[in-house]
This record gives sequence, C-alpha cells and structure tokens, in this order.
Amino acid sequence: MTSSATVLIVEDEVPLRRFLRASLGSAGFRVVEAGTAQEGFSLATSHNPELILLDLGLPDEDGVSLTRRLREWARMPIIVVSAQGREARKVEALDAGADDFLTKPFGMNELLARLRVALRHAAQLGGQPSPVLELGRLTVDLARREVTLDGQELHLTPIEYRLLTLLAQHAGKVLTHSFLLREVWGPGHVEHTHYLRVYMAQLRRKLEADTTRPKLLKTEPGVGYRLKDD
Ligand code: CA
Repeated sequence: MTSSATVLIVEDEVPLRRFLRASLGSAGFRVVEAGTAQEGFSLATSHNPELILLDLGLPDEDGVSLTRRLREWARMPIIVVSAQGREARKVEALDAGADDFLTKPFGMNELLARLRVALRHAAQLGGQPSPVLELGRLTVDLARREVTLDGQELHLTPIEYRLLTLLAQHAGKVLTHSFLLREVWGPGHVEHTHYLRVYMAQLRRKLEADTTRPKLLKTEPGVGYRLKDD
C-alpha cells in the first residue's frame, strides 16, 4: 500500500520541493506537487492523494487556513512542515485538522517514518477499530479496559486511562494540549494545561523506567504529547 501511495507536496521553496519529490519518488511514492495553496487545493481535489505534505508558509494563503479548507471534505493525512521555533503555528495547524508536523530542517528518514505512520493510521481508520491496541510493550484492551506493560497489568485512574487510550488510539501522532483537554475534561478546560502536566507526570511514573528520560510518552514542547508507535 505505502509503496504506491500518492503524496501531494505543497511547498513554495523550489529546491526543497525538488529534493522532496526526488526522495519520495525513490522511496516508491507517486508524487504530485504544487507551489501555491490554490494549486495545492485543486490538485488535492483532482488527484485525491493518500497523503498531503503541506508547508505552512505559502505565498497565496496560510497553510493553516488551507488545512481547514481541505478538512471540510478531505480525510487523508495532512503532515505540515514549518520552520523551527514556531510552536504556536504547529498547534494551530494540528487543531485545524493536520495529523502531524515536521520542523524544518528535517531528515529524510524522519519524514519517511512519519509518512508511514500516517498512512498506516489512515488504513486502520478505514477498517474496523481494533478493540485491542498493541503498541510494542504496551497493550490497551478497550473492551475490557485493561492496560498491560510488558505483560503486567497497570492500575490507572479513570483520567489516566482516558488519556492513555486517546494517545494509544493515535499512537505516533502528536496530540495537542487543547485536544487532550477538550476530550478528557471538556471544552471548558482547554486552557488548563497544568491538568495535563500533573496527569502526564502520573502516567509516566506508571509507564516509564526513568521518568526524566521517557521512552514511551514523549513531550512535544509547546505543542502536546505523543505516544511512541512501535
Ligand atoms: Ca514556504
């Protein structure tokens, strides 16, 4: 599936776009490319790509606004690319419906890994949701509400369980603070990021051998959290 997937690249920097086209092409993807948001939108509708790689800084329209327009009908994964140190922009893009982000400059292996995760998720969402999520050492049985790590059952509070379930259902993908707060505590609590700090610290104490160097539950500074997907 992955090898023949079509990826739409929306990027106005010509050298970067060429590089991406060549690299994704040699990794077996079919590539269509656009240099403006308008062209990107029209290629998305005409080619219905399996994935969109979208630069946020485009000459004719902001990438966040394009994400929002695409999300009115498009379900394929959107990975946004933005320059370093623009956390607020990444959060905006993720909240507008993007699935993941990459920070420029990024390595090709990192990009390919993110593409594979996003495409695998899209394929899973198309099928029946699995009642048991297997994530390497971690297993979440949604039907029995049972979580095990290395075969040992973890005892989680209802909020810890809800947080971990959300992260596990979107494993590999970064979930923003406001998404997690809205889903777990409700829309009136999206500003209460200190709740997350407290509960994520609790979860880490149950999940990680060394909470100062988490291996499973990763922090994306200024953006949110990601559960490692393997
Ligand atoms: Ca740009």
